[in-house]
Amino acid sequence: MLLEVKDLHVYYYTKRGVVRAVEGVSFQLDHAEIMGIVGESGSGKSTLGLAIMNLVPSPGRIVKGSIRLEGKDLTKMSEKELRKVRGKEVAMVFQDPMTSLDPLMRIGDQIVETILAHEDLSKEEARKRALELLEEVGISKDRFNDYPHQLSGGMRQRVMIAMAVSLNPKLIIADEPTTALDVIVQDQIMELFSKLRDEFGVAIILISHDLALELEVSDKIGVMYAGWLVELSSSGELAENPLNPYTRELLKAIPNVELEEQKLVSIPGSPPDLHDPPHGCRFHPRCPDAMQVCYREEPPTKVVDGRLVKCWLYGR
Ligand code: ATP
Ligand code: SF4
Repeated sequence: MLLEVKDLHVYYYTKRGVVRAVEGVSFQLDHAEIMGIVGESGSGKSTLGLAIMNLVPSPGRIVKGSIRLEGKDLTKMSEKELRKVRGKEVAMVFQDPMTSLDPLMRIGDQIVETILAHEDLSKEEARKRALELLEEVGISKDRFNDYPHQLSGGMRQRVMIAMAVSLNPKLIIADEPTTALDVIVQDQIMELFSKLRDEFGVAIILISHDLALELEVSDKIGVMYAGWLVELSSSGELAENPLNPYTRELLKAIPNVELEEQKLVSIPGSPPDLHDPPHGCRFHPRCPDAMQVCYREEPPTKVVDGRLVKCWLYGR
């Protein structure tokens, strides 16, 4: 097993009060496995991604739980130890490459710099590796001397992915990596992620609000609602037979391209304010299946046929 997250709690201590952004989240991830994390805005997806790098910004804090990468608990590491893990073992790819790339530096040189900062290689060796990486992610070697603004959004994201894989990490956390890109480029980037998994054995955590996109590439999917992981299933099982009512509603909201006329369904209501989430099950105000107990008590997380589900429909 590559990663084991156990009972993770991440809170933000704001002037308005405590935001319980991630609560009681547990899951495991293997080498060469892609796990999607899906949920509406504010469900805690980005906070979870940052927590795995132990990078939760102030006023946030990991208040409970463990994050073990090949057995080593990242929550217990010093800043010096964490710096070795970040980039080298776990890398991150964000939504907007322009904020992460230096606009005044040629893209090839930026990849070379990343490699030289972590690896004991000569400049020439690093340059050779950077050229190979560009090819791996589908960018012609001729673009090595281009500046970021000379590339399309999709190409810039490919450069970010090349930088992320340049140090051979075991895990890449990609937070909404294709949200700003058109559908065709989105599919190409998903293909690139599949290739990285299959050829390099990289594990990927793909954070997105787009369940259809996640179903394309993920081996398994974790569904988040208001800071909770409410379901964790293989992609096939999740699409065929969702266990949690919230997952079912998310699936209903995916447009079906084969139908000419269809009503676009969205889940009625909106996600709760995490300063003061609803009592009992946090989804109960919007849940078509809510029962008496859902108003009063937090549902337990149960294992059902090897899948995880947090919902009273599956008993105590
Ligand atoms: P989105 O899809 O909109 O990025 P998300 O699912 O990634 O949302 P998070 O960004 O993790 O959700 O936010 C989870 C909760 O934590 C939200 O209620 C948000 O307001 C709160 N939050 C996030 N960052 C901070 C911060 N720096 N300070 C205070 N609260 C924060
Ligand atoms: Fe719906 Fe109750 Fe399950 Fe929550 S616990 S998802 S309210 S049925």
